Amino acid sequence: MIAPVMLRKPIPEEVDPVKLAQKAVSLTGSLTASDFPALQGEPYSVLEGQVSFEMHFGRDSQNQCLIEGKVCGELTLECALCLKPVGHTVNCQFALRPVTSTDEAKALEEAYEPVLMDQGRVFPLFIVQEEILLSLPQVAKHSEGICTIAQSVTKFADNLSSNGQGPKNPFSVLEFLKRKPE
Ligand SMILES: [Zn+2]
Repeated sequence: MIAPVMLRKPIPEEVDPVKLAQKAVSLTGSLTASDFPALQGEPYSVLEGQVSFEMHFGRDSQNQCLIEGKVCGELTLECALCLKPVGHTVNCQFALRPVTSTDEAKALEEAYEPVLMDQGRVFPLFIVQEEILLSLPQVAKHSEGICTIAQSVTKFADNLSSNGQGPKNPFSVLEFLKRKPE
């Protein structure tokens, strides 16, 4: 059996933000949904997609280390109602201050989000994942009028009211919801 060729990712697993800030290093790259196993499956339901990111390591006016960047891309999530794919656009910017403790994080000015260092390191993939996470809706679903389940339920309710017959019992609609979409 031939093992799959492991391509070297353009994103380093861990970096020293202070060192990179001294050299004003920028990291860029693109990642696919499979790079974020934590976002696949419940409760986030990311099915597929690709994001590109930029991460600039530098110093602010007070000479403090700062990581600024953005994450953009298109992901496909699973609609919680009809279980079919629903598109989600990621377009976020961030300004992160590496901190060494939660106390230091609490003392931060509001303009920056803290990112906790582990032995002086941060993890670029984790930073990108956190930004994607923040962009995700609480419940992934199609907008009304697009979701097939929502449409079916509306039609069902319309039919009931137009022919003057109420549901036989209050759970009829629920029964209908439980049916699998075609
Ligand atoms: Zn749907």
